[in-house]
Amino acid sequence: MLLLHEEETKTKKLNNLSLEGCYDKNWISSSNKPRLLRNLQCLLCKQIANNAMEIICNEHEDHKETVLIGEKCLKQYLNEHNNKCPIGNHDHCNYVKGQTARNFISELKVICPRQFGIDLNIKTNIETKEGDTSTEIETKKQYCIFKGKIEEVKNHLQNECCLKPLECKFKEFGCDDILFNFNFQKHLQLKGNQHSNLLLNNISILQNKIQQYQSNENNTQILKSKIEEQEQYIHNNGMKKKKK
Ligand SMILES: [Zn+2]
Ligand SMILES: [Zn+2]
Ligand SMILES: [Zn+2]
Ligand SMILES: [Zn+2]
Repeated sequence: MLLLHEEETKTKKLNNLSLEGCYDKNWISSSNKPRLLRNLQCLLCKQIANNAMEIICNEHEDHKETVLIGEKCLKQYLNEHNNKCPIGNHDHCNYVKGQTARNFISELKVICPRQFGIDLNIKTNIETKEGDTSTEIETKKQYCIFKGKIEEVKNHLQNECCLKPLECKFKEFGCDDILFNFNFQKHLQLKGNQHSNLLLNNISILQNKIQQYQSNENNTQILKSKIEEQEQYIHNNGMKKKKK
């Protein structure tokens, strides 16, 4: 039997921003006609197959439509089910790269998945009349206008997207705020005092360390001079050093 998570696929959230597993169907559908996507679903997760594999076992070659499964979903399924075929539950599941589907899917036009996630959240906020309105306003100020092929999305998210989260320069001193290009400078201005305090704290920690270090140095100096004193004593009294 197939274990399908129908309920999960119905939830209104972006399932996969990492782009490693199958592609979120709601995201892809937002810029493509359903007709185009009909035969591109992953059999297992019901999203759009990423790195599509075609199942081609002899056991069920009478199956009329091509059966696609995303590579990650298929590997996971085979792992968890002792390599039994997800369609026929028989041994020796036979599959190949679904090259035609892959080519087609990689050409699909999509919007920025971060922007799509934000749009979803805003919709949810309006529906439930709750949620953090300040972030809502913040995010509305900035809109990622990316629209391109799926294969271009990874590069977009890494290098161009204005909604890419950034770390504050003062993170190593304790500022954990997550920022974006558009409010980075503003944050530095607004949080100037907090950042100065973080730096002052850090400086006093360093000063303590220096003091500890120096007192260690002093101790070493005292020990050294004690040793010298004792060696002098030995020398003066004509005794020979004992070897250990
Ligand atoms: Zn899948
Ligand atoms: Zn099979
Ligand atoms: Zn973007
Ligand atoms: Zn900061």
